[in-house]
Amino acid sequence: MKKYDYLIVGGGLFGAVFAHQAMASGKRCLIIDKRPHIGGNIYCEEVDGIRVHKYGAHIFHTDNKEVWDYVNRFVEFNRYTNSPLAYYKGVLYNLPFNMNTFSKLWEVNTPAEAKAKIEEQRGEYADIECPANLEEQALKLCGKDIYEIFIKEYTEKQWGRSATELPAFIIKRIPFRFTYDNNYFNDGYQGIPKGGYNVLIQGLTEGADVLLNTDYFKSRAELDALADHVLYTGCIDEFFDFKYGHLEYRSLRFEHELMNISDFQGNAVVNYNERAFPYTRIIEHKHFEFGCQPHTVITREFPSDFFVGCEPYYPVNDATNTVLLNRYKKLAEELPNVLFGGRLAQYAYFDMDDTVAAALDMARNSFKY
Ligand code: FAD
Ligand code: UDP
Repeated sequence: MKKYDYLIVGGGLFGAVFAHQAMASGKRCLIIDKRPHIGGNIYCEEVDGIRVHKYGAHIFHTDNKEVWDYVNRFVEFNRYTNSPLAYYKGVLYNLPFNMNTFSKLWEVNTPAEAKAKIEEQRGEYADIECPANLEEQALKLCGKDIYEIFIKEYTEKQWGRSATELPAFIIKRIPFRFTYDNNYFNDGYQGIPKGGYNVLIQGLTEGADVLLNTDYFKSRAELDALADHVLYTGCIDEFFDFKYGHLEYRSLRFEHELMNISDFQGNAVVNYNERAFPYTRIIEHKHFEFGCQPHTVITREFPSDFFVGCEPYYPVNDATNTVLLNRYKKLAEELPNVLFGGRLAQYAYFDMDDTVAAALDMARNSFKY
């Protein structure tokens, strides 16, 4: 008998939820991660009493009650509501696009005035039936001013390519409404874990054996020999040694700065929508938890090209990559003892709630509960 039922490659949110459910079904789990910590991209590092979202700002939001109840079993959430600001040519606007944004942009006061202005702005773009790319989608949805001020330059910085070469679905994520409501998300549940995301991950992984600084590909045969099954949450193309070629990812670079002032920007998230700024946003971490420290920590988020060796933060789900992904998925289906889950192995732009839901589904299918 092997020592473990499951070798879980990657101690991010997907691996942690699956491990918890596996252990609840009596399975023995070994989690490995190549990083020096578990938690994947939701990991927080404490700097002078402030929890820093080391791999980018993470706000938990969901409409899925099962997922919300599930995460609340491990940690309580605070009442943080994400209301980012957008900085463009010296002016701060409210996001998501709502009456506060429209009134500052066009001096309109009522929803009817704003709707009329947007109709005028959409012009002939309103008639595009099936937007072929992100630019067409944005122009159809919000018209010229909003596209040019808030979307075009930010998106082209973020993705490193023209908005006409990006899939339309990316922009469908941005809420758009005619009320004075700055809540970025439409979901019914939202917040930041009290004590940080590490509390959630610790609760989920309690009882599992963990090996850090362990890259699966450096000792694959020895690690496989330890368990009957593998749950793999790393990049799917890497699992198959890039046999059909490399999937594309977008990466990020984070510059963290500890500052000797109590408040830098008065808000957790400020987007920098102009191309002139090389970063897309500045995060001030204390505001996620209503911190009152005399100092503060900010993080500038710089989009960057992906090359092997840096972190693959975003899949690029365009047509070319989808064809390649489907070829890898076929290979994955031929391996009955290996499960592929999470943002990297499924090559999907999952939010945390999607990740939890997908891991719970996989566990339900595996353990038949
Ligand atoms: P990951 O967190 O990437 O975990 C995968 C783990 O596998 C990593 O720890 C990695 O080190 C490990 N690994 C990979 N390869 C190997 C290997 N060969 N050997 C060993 N270990 C390996 N979601 C929200 O809901 N709200 C947000 O506000 C939000 N903000 C985000 C901001 C950014 C910048 C990014 C990139 C994502 C954001 N997300 C957000 C999405 C969220 O991060 C994901 O849904 C979630 O973290 C995915 O978990 P995962 O386990 O699939 O992947
Ligand atoms: N976006 C934009 N302007 C903004 C914020 C977002 O154009 O001020 C676009 C951009 O293309 C980005 C997408 O909307 O990639 C999704 O942004 P969101 O902040 O929801 O996603 P995240 O980057 O946090 O995953």
